[in-house]
Amino acid sequence: DEFIVIVTGSSVDRLESIINDIQQIFVRPWFLKGEDYYCTISAGVAFFPTDARTVEDVIRRADIALFNAKKEGKNRIEFYNEAIDGTSTKRLDLEKYMRKATMNECDEFTVYFQPIINVKGEDVCAGAEALVRWNSATMGFINPVDFIPLAEYLGLINPIGEHVLREAAKHCRYWNDMGHPDYKVNVNLSVVQLLQNDIVKKIKGIIDEVGIEPGNLCLEVTESLAINDMVRMKRILSEIKALGVKVALDDFGTGYSNFHYLSELHPDIVKIDRGFTSKAITDKKEYYLLNQFSNMIHNLGLKLCIEGIETEDELQKMKLLKPDYCQGFYWGRSCPYDEFRKHFVD
Ligand code: C2E
Ligand code: CA
Ligand code: CA
Repeated sequence: DEFIVIVTGSSVDRLESIINDIQQIFVRPWFLKGEDYYCTISAGVAFFPTDARTVEDVIRRADIALFNAKKEGKNRIEFYNEAIDGTSTKRLDLEKYMRKATMNECDEFTVYFQPIINVKGEDVCAGAEALVRWNSATMGFINPVDFIPLAEYLGLINPIGEHVLREAAKHCRYWNDMGHPDYKVNVNLSVVQLLQNDIVKKIKGIIDEVGIEPGNLCLEVTESLAINDMVRMKRILSEIKALGVKVALDDFGTGYSNFHYLSELHPDIVKIDRGFTSKAITDKKEYYLLNQFSNMIHNLGLKLCIEGIETEDELQKMKLLKPDYCQGFYWGRSCPYDEFRKHFVD
């Protein structure tokens, strides 16, 4: 799904209108098997010889600009310039070391755990969300927001995500064996992983290999795929649920938050994004909105998890919405497995 357009020197004064023509093609939907499909376009532009002097370098620079265009919110055209060059050398290092790390069995990627609390009765730990960290030998400790977008762009999220899933399932199996048979582990699944043809087989393979109870595994997905291809998203999620695995819709309250998705995709759990939670804590209207969302989520028979709770006061406010689960710094930050074990397992 990537193409290179070469604009020759004699046409370069028409560059703007050429770019505009290409963008116009994507304004209208494509009609396929009775339905409209929308497709966005992102592009990066680099100039020869001002930006780079070899074919490889021109392509690389255009690719850096393209990555920036996608990072800034997709559906954009970005020109390569000196300003992104500073970040681009870092980007090239990140890419180089990330490729290396994934070839070394992903052992630089560690999984942290953040407790998820069941708040239906007394507050008790119900398990944890697995959150990846990259402990790079050359670049140091890197948080997911700083490398997941690039990992998705390069397709490296597939081996990394598989590694996280395996590690998370192994630890959960251990907690289950150590006197907490109902503890569940939530694992984030990128849309890039969801689009792999063999994703369901991969998940099943890891469940069998680790011996975790499928019902103790919960995969967190976002609605992004549904926006473009609801049919496909529904099919994949139902295949995942057929394994006995739970599905959570993550980041609800950001982006589209369409109720149509909730009834169509029918996840087991809906997770309210912490951005929404913090707005609802300070803003009455946002709180009212969240209250309506919560009612509808419950009426659809889905469970509700509120993320980003940091204080007792916030917890009391959010408990009025009758969530099933809560998560946040109030109970604990994400931590290495031995620390999680000390506080919530032993
Ligand atoms: P997310 O799935 O929404 O994860 C929750 C993030 O919010 C985590 O940040 C967590 O540490 C943070 N958080 C939790 N409670 C609180 C709180 O009370 N206050 C504040 N201020 N923050 C809180 P983290 O670990 O940096 O992860 C960021 C994002 O990176 C995740 O957002 C997720 O989208 C992505 N991510 C993390 N691990 C993975 C992974 O293994 N695979 C994929 N595909 N994405 C991942
Ligand atoms: Ca998540
Ligand atoms: Ca979330």
